[in-house]
Amino acid sequence: MSIQENISRIFSPELLGQVKEFIDSHNCFVVTTHMSPDGDAVGSTVAMCRYLRSKGKQATLVFNDRPGYNLSFIKGIDDCLVFERNNQEPEKCQHDAAVNAISEAEAIVCLDYNALYRLGDLADEIRKSQAPRLLIDHHLDPVVEEFSVVVSEPSLSAACEVEYRLILELGDDNLVTREIAEPLYCGMMTDTGQFVFNSERKDVYLIVARLLETGFAKEELHRQFALELERRVRLKGYCLYHKMVIIPEHQAAFISLSKPELKRFNHQKGDSEGFVNAPLDIKGIKVVAFFREEKNFIKVSLRSKGDYPVNIIAEKFFNGGGHKNASGGEFQGSLQKAEQLFVKALPLFDKYL
Ligand code: 5GP
Ligand code: MN
Repeated sequence: MSIQENISRIFSPELLGQVKEFIDSHNCFVVTTHMSPDGDAVGSTVAMCRYLRSKGKQATLVFNDRPGYNLSFIKGIDDCLVFERNNQEPEKCQHDAAVNAISEAEAIVCLDYNALYRLGDLADEIRKSQAPRLLIDHHLDPVVEEFSVVVSEPSLSAACEVEYRLILELGDDNLVTREIAEPLYCGMMTDTGQFVFNSERKDVYLIVARLLETGFAKEELHRQFALELERRVRLKGYCLYHKMVIIPEHQAAFISLSKPELKRFNHQKGDSEGFVNAPLDIKGIKVVAFFREEKNFIKVSLRSKGDYPVNIIAEKFFNGGGHKNASGGEFQGSLQKAEQLFVKALPLFDKYL
């Protein structure tokens, strides 16, 4: 018996029919994902473009903004158009090409986000298009009115897992070559913290086993993912030694970085990705916030262990959302105000400690 026969089937025939019709009845696709793309966003979109092309379709990958250099280990990441204007290197600006691709698209595939606003500035451009949208995602509470076909599976590890299962159940498993398997694996690996969280179900490993059959270099991917630049390591040391505040009575910690601090460490996009996880490794800490001062807002990242629902903190206090143990949002105000809000919220959640 082949590995894929052991993977449970989860989609209804009606839904599979809708997805099949969506793909079969269009030829020219644009594939999108959320702003500040992470590993699952990049992996799922790169794989989707390749899958559509293997079915003889035309597919263009459009990102709102360029993914951080830390994701450059995902091959195919450069096969994209970036919507955000590149003012530093105007000759490399792809904004017009991205707008053009969207205006020509007959259909739009939306991966790893649950609502159009998660696209950032790209959302307006997508809204302007009449093209129908297919959502393939694993976030809670999709805004279903914004999509023509909705494949939303919040219990799954990654959008990449939803996507593989969809390909499998559409009867296209034979199209999953190494070029498609590798980015799908990258998304599952990054969205589960290298298979630490959200990865208890045996199907995760059956899918991994199936993807590995294509022969990509798994160990090399993990090694590249773990590589860090000197300036990031120094900034992390600074955060943990000088900036981490621990609130023992609420088993909480937070770190914040101001604009001058980011400048001092020559912070580039992606440099502080994942810093929010470090204080969770401290015995007794259950919830962590990381605040980073951006141009017009404070970027908030929240992480927790066990039943502690940081998505509620993100929704109620930081205009955001996400998963129970990993959420984020944006705060309008000063760093200090964001910190105060977090500290004030903590007593409301002591019941989860
Ligand atoms: P991160 O802290 O890595 O930026 O985000 C963790 C998770 O929180 C993301 O996968 C996403 O589900 C959610 N998230 C992050 N930022 C936002 C936001 O601004 N709004 C919403 N609704 N969710 C967010
Ligand atoms: Mn994801």
